[in-house]
Amino acid sequence: MTIADVAFDAPVHHSFSYRVPDGWTVVPGQRAQAPLGGAARVGMVVAVRDGAEPGLKPLAQLVDAEPVLSRAQLDLVDWIAAQSLSSVGSTCAALLPPPAGREAAGSAGLAASGAVGPGAPKPELLTGAGREKRVLERLEATKGAALVIAADVETVARWAQRLAKIDRAVRLDSGVPDEERGAAWRALRDGSARLAAGTRSALLAPLPPPATLVLLDEHEAAHKPPGAPRMHSRDVALERRAREPLALLLTAATPSLEAWWRAESGLIDMPSREPGPWPAVSVADTRGILRREPLTPPLARAIRETLAAKRRVFLVVSRLTSSLACDECGAVVRCGDCAIALAYSRAAARLVCRVCGASHPLPDTCAACHGRRLTPFGWGAERVEHAVRRRFSDARIARWDPDAARGARGEAQRAAAAAADVVIGTRGALRLFGPAALGLAAFVAPDQLLRAPDFRAGERTLALAWAAAERVAADGAVIIQSQNPGHYAFAAVARQNLHEFYRPELKFRAELGYPPFRRLAVVTARAGQSDETRRLAEAVGAALRGSKGLTVYPPIADRSDRIRRIVTKGGDDLPRLLDDALREFKAPSAGRGIIDVEVDPVEWPF
Ligand SMILES: [Zn+2]
Ligand SMILES: [Zn+2]
Repeated sequence: MTIADVAFDAPVHHSFSYRVPDGWTVVPGQRAQAPLGGAARVGMVVAVRDGAEPGLKPLAQLVDAEPVLSRAQLDLVDWIAAQSLSSVGSTCAALLPPPAGREAAGSAGLAASGAVGPGAPKPELLTGAGREKRVLERLEATKGAALVIAADVETVARWAQRLAKIDRAVRLDSGVPDEERGAAWRALRDGSARLAAGTRSALLAPLPPPATLVLLDEHEAAHKPPGAPRMHSRDVALERRAREPLALLLTAATPSLEAWWRAESGLIDMPSREPGPWPAVSVADTRGILRREPLTPPLARAIRETLAAKRRVFLVVSRLTSSLACDECGAVVRCGDCAIALAYSRAAARLVCRVCGASHPLPDTCAACHGRRLTPFGWGAERVEHAVRRRFSDARIARWDPDAARGARGEAQRAAAAAADVVIGTRGALRLFGPAALGLAAFVAPDQLLRAPDFRAGERTLALAWAAAERVAADGAVIIQSQNPGHYAFAAVARQNLHEFYRPELKFRAELGYPPFRRLAVVTARAGQSDETRRLAEAVGAALRGSKGLTVYPPIADRSDRIRRIVTKGGDDLPRLLDDALREFKAPSAGRGIIDVEVDPVEWPF
C-alpha cells in the first residue's frame, strides 16, 4: 500500500500517516484533507512511501491538483521549522496562500531548483537615497521572475502598482481575496506573471530561474510578525538564496546589525553611494532643562519659521519610558552586567534587568554626577500637543499614534494629521510623509527610546531619526532635543554617516554577547497558579542549564506572577540545543502548564 505522511498546522512536531486510496497520485508538496482528532483538516503531504501499516485511515481529499511546494522548498520549510522551533505544518500554513476551493489544473511542473553555482551573485544590500528606484531599475532590466516582499500590506499595494508599470504583476498578500492569491501563486509558477509583491506569507512563492527576490526594509521588526514560524523574513530570504539560484536584493535606510555585520564580513555586497541631499541636523542639549516646557527656544523658533514658510512640521514623540534617568546629566540607570536600561516598576519601587533578572532598590542619587533628580519623567504626545497649541494657536495641529488609535477613531486622526501643519506623532506617523516632504522634523525627547530596556534601543533610535531626516527637504531642518546629545546614533544622523553608528554599536554587541555575535531566545513558562509557574520555570531553567552550550539567566516573573521568562544565549546551534533541552516539556502533561520559545526575538517581549 502507499502511505502519505501529513503535517498539520498544530504545535506537534511529527506528521501523521494515512493510506493513499487506490488510483490516487500524491506527491510531497501537495496539500490534502484528512481526518484528525475527529475533524477533517487540511495538511501538507511531506512524504509518500510504500509500506504495510494496517488500520491507517485513508486521505479524504486532495486540496492541490499539483504540488505547491517543490522538494527543495519542503527542505527549506524543514530548516525554517527547526530554526524557529515551529512545526512543519504551521510553517507551511503561514507561508502558503489559503487552499483554493477548486484548483484549476495547470500544466507546467515546478521549476527544479538546482544547487547554487559558484558564479551566483552575493546578496546585495542597497542603502542610501534612491534605493527603491534602483530596485525598480534592476527589475526592469532583468527579464526573469521577481518577487518583492514588504513588511506590510500598504507597502505591498504601492509596490504592486509600481511593478505593474514594468510587466504583469500579481499580489500574494492578504490585501487581495484568497482566490486571487492562489491564482497569483499559480501564475508565477507557470510564468504567466513575471512580477509579484507580497508579505511574509509569499516568501516561498515559486520563482522559475533566473529570478530575483527583493526584501524591502530588511531592518523592520514587522518582518517577524507574531505566529509560527517565528523567524524574520531576512533569515528566510538569505537561506532561500543559499539553496536556489536567485539574486537577492535587500533594502534598508538603516540596516539591521545582522545585515551590516554580514556586509562587513563579505557575505553581502553593500555598494557604497555618494550621499544624497540631507537637511541640517542639530542636537540640542536638554540636560538639566526641559522641566516644564517640551520645546526648547531653538525648536520653538524653527517651528515658527517653518510655519511662516508654509511648510510642514513633524514633532516625534515616543511612548513613556519604563526606565529611570538623571535629569541633570542624562545618565540612564543600567544593569552593570548586561548594560541595558533597568526597567522601572513604580508599584514595586524597584529596578529590574530584563535580561539577567537582577533587581535593585531605587537609587537616591545618580551614580554618574550625584544629582538627585532621577526620574522616569517624559513627554507624552498630549502634553506636547498642549504646549504647541498654546504657542501656535493659528496653526492646524494634529496628533496621531497609529499604534494607539485604530478603527474609526484612528482613521479620523489620520485624516486630520494628513491635513495638518504640525503633526505630533509616534514612529508610525512617519508614513504620512514622503521623501523630502517636511520643512522640519524634531525629536522632543528621544531619550525615552534610548532608555528602552532592550539591547536594540540604539538601533531603534538610529532607524527612527534617520527615517525622519529622509523625509525632510534638503533646505529644511532636523532638531534633536536630547539629554544624551553625544550619542553616536545622533552623530551618525547629523553627519549622514552610518559608519559612525555601526562601528561603536558592533563593539557594544560583541563585548556583551548580543546578536549578531550570539543568538538569544526567550523561554516563557505559564501555568494556572503562580507557584506552579514558578516550579515549571525552575524545572525549565534546570533543563536548560544542563546544556553546555547555553548561557541561562534566572527566571523573571511578570507583574501578575503568572508568567516567567528565561533569557538564554547561545551560538549558531541555539535552536537545536533548546530543542534537545526542552524535549521533556514538549509532551502535553496534565496540569503542568505550557512553555513557549521565541528564538532571535526582535521586539523584547516584556
Ligand atoms: Zn546624573
Ligand atoms: Zn542584567
